[in-house]
Amino acid sequence: MQIESLPRFPLAQLPTPIEELKSLSRELGGPELLIKRDDQTGLALGGNKTRKLEFLVGQALEQGADTLITAGAAQSNHCRQTAAAAARAGLRCELLRNGTKPELPNGNVLLDELLGARIHWIQPSERAAKLRELPDQLQKEGRKPYVIPVGGSNGVGATGYVLAMIELVEQLHGIKRSVDHIVFASSSGGTQAGMVVGAKVTGFVGKLHGVRIDKDDRDRPPYDHELADIANETGNYIGCDAQFTAKDFNIDYGYLGGGYGIVSNLEREAIRLLGSREGIVLDPVYTGRAMGALLALVRKKTFRPDETVLFWHTGGAPALFAYAKDLV
Ligand SMILES: *Cc1c(COP(=O)(O)O)cnc(C)c1O
Repeated sequence: MQIESLPRFPLAQLPTPIEELKSLSRELGGPELLIKRDDQTGLALGGNKTRKLEFLVGQALEQGADTLITAGAAQSNHCRQTAAAAARAGLRCELLRNGTKPELPNGNVLLDELLGARIHWIQPSERAAKLRELPDQLQKEGRKPYVIPVGGSNGVGATGYVLAMIELVEQLHGIKRSVDHIVFASSSGGTQAGMVVGAKVTGFVGKLHGVRIDKDDRDRPPYDHELADIANETGNYIGCDAQFTAKDFNIDYGYLGGGYGIVSNLEREAIRLLGSREGIVLDPVYTGRAMGALLALVRKKTFRPDETVLFWHTGGAPALFAYAKDLV
């Protein structure tokens, strides 16, 4: 492995804390619940994209780029963290966001503006073409763009989650605890792919449960195949010769509800429960849904009461303000 020698630009405050969810665990009658606070990665309100951006920005700087380009949903946390990473690294940032310019910018969109990014509002159907055109156009203007895929989910970005797994395993060793299950939100795949590679590298034997956030897109390969591709790219990038296939990924498609960003009682209950019992803020799109899934799995007795389940908080709370109408 060559992780130590890969280009990396420091952005995150690591290690992120692990905390016990004692009240919630007691209220549910077990299992023991832990939470890994990647909502506290530290960059402009935090989140999981910060770990990926350390490696993506590292490569961008190595290639002499002066501008980061990326794309995402209207309230993408990835876009906001990319805007902040660009600011820290002295780069410009161009964001392709789905939708139309809101009258009053709120949540992540407000933050993008304050962080100095330029936002292009586009329709989702235009995204692929714009991701090709914009770099060409900037190059003609003499700029050196570096394109980051949606969610930062390629082998370079997912390397951040290989390191995150190594970090977790070291922390658990330090507090003499073991974890039987890890539950987390899975959307563009870099987080889950990186964790699976990290589990292989460290010999972690707990079960990973990726809670799927998006309905599958017919124009794309099945999600488990996409995850295997990202994991293999990651393995290549870090110099680990393991091979991954779709079977290496445990994905729970049971909590999709109305699809990406559609808030239902599942998310509302989870957000209020974590807020009122633990003082922890979840988000409406990802962690609300993943925690809703965890609660449902506990109620279905998927976990034994003596097992330990770790919820990996991946951030996203800035989007809450833009979703206020769906939450009250
Ligand atoms: C992007 C995101 C995820 C999903 O991570 P992927 O690597 O895209 O699968 C989960 N939670 C939050 C808050 C996110 O912003």
